[in-house]
Amino acid sequence: MLISCSPDDPHAAGDPYEAGIVLTFDDDYADEWCDADEILGAYNWKATFFVTKYQQLSQEHKNKIYGLELNGHEIAGHGYNHVNSKQYVAGKSTERYAKDEIQPMIKAMGKDGFSLRSFSYPYGSRNGRIDTLLLDYFDIIRGTTYGRYAPQKQACYYNGSRLVFGLGIDQSYSHADIKYLKSLMQYAKDQNKIVIFYGHKPVEKPSGTHQASMKKLEEICKFANKLGLKYYTASELYGLE
Ligand SMILES: [Zn+2]
Repeated sequence: MLISCSPDDPHAAGDPYEAGIVLTFDDDYADEWCDADEILGAYNWKATFFVTKYQQLSQEHKNKIYGLELNGHEIAGHGYNHVNSKQYVAGKSTERYAKDEIQPMIKAMGKDGFSLRSFSYPYGSRNGRIDTLLLDYFDIIRGTTYGRYAPQKQACYYNGSRLVFGLGIDQSYSHADIKYLKSLMQYAKDQNKIVIFYGHKPVEKPSGTHQASMKKLEEICKFANKLGLKYYTASELYGLE
């Protein structure tokens, strides 16, 4: 394999990466995630599912989550009780947050064979101190970003940091129309970057918050394939430079 090794090549130091896309989903929508996988499997997609309150899921839903991992997707963490981390540490310590929200999640999911390498913040709520603490537990942590900015001003691209930001693609976000999302994907292709999106519950007809249009997801995958973007899971970003 030929890799450019000129000294000014920003990718020369570590594992080089290809232009790509990270599709992530938060919360506990095992049924809808599996439905989406049935449709988007045709596009050879790969996603990362950040699961919260795993301990409260039915056995059927736990099995579905396991099935997603078997299909090549990443199962990651989204909190034991979905607390707002900044609010939580304001009343207690960051160590207490890890004890109450992170360690029990790792234990509960670990018991069923899930080895968590990535974490996404509920409500996107985070700060530098909590980041530092969580990077002891995870390879990659994901916050959130919003707004219709020009691609070069968007925070939703992997930039070599273990803290990444996903752009919300649920229907309720006014910036998240397919035309804009495609322009961000095109920029990833043109600039050899990896774009990161996040949603919640994939449905045919979104009718509230936390719902991503199935049609839009299909268009994203179709366009990703047309551009030749590589699907990365969150933890696959780790070590890319
Ligand atoms: Zn959430």
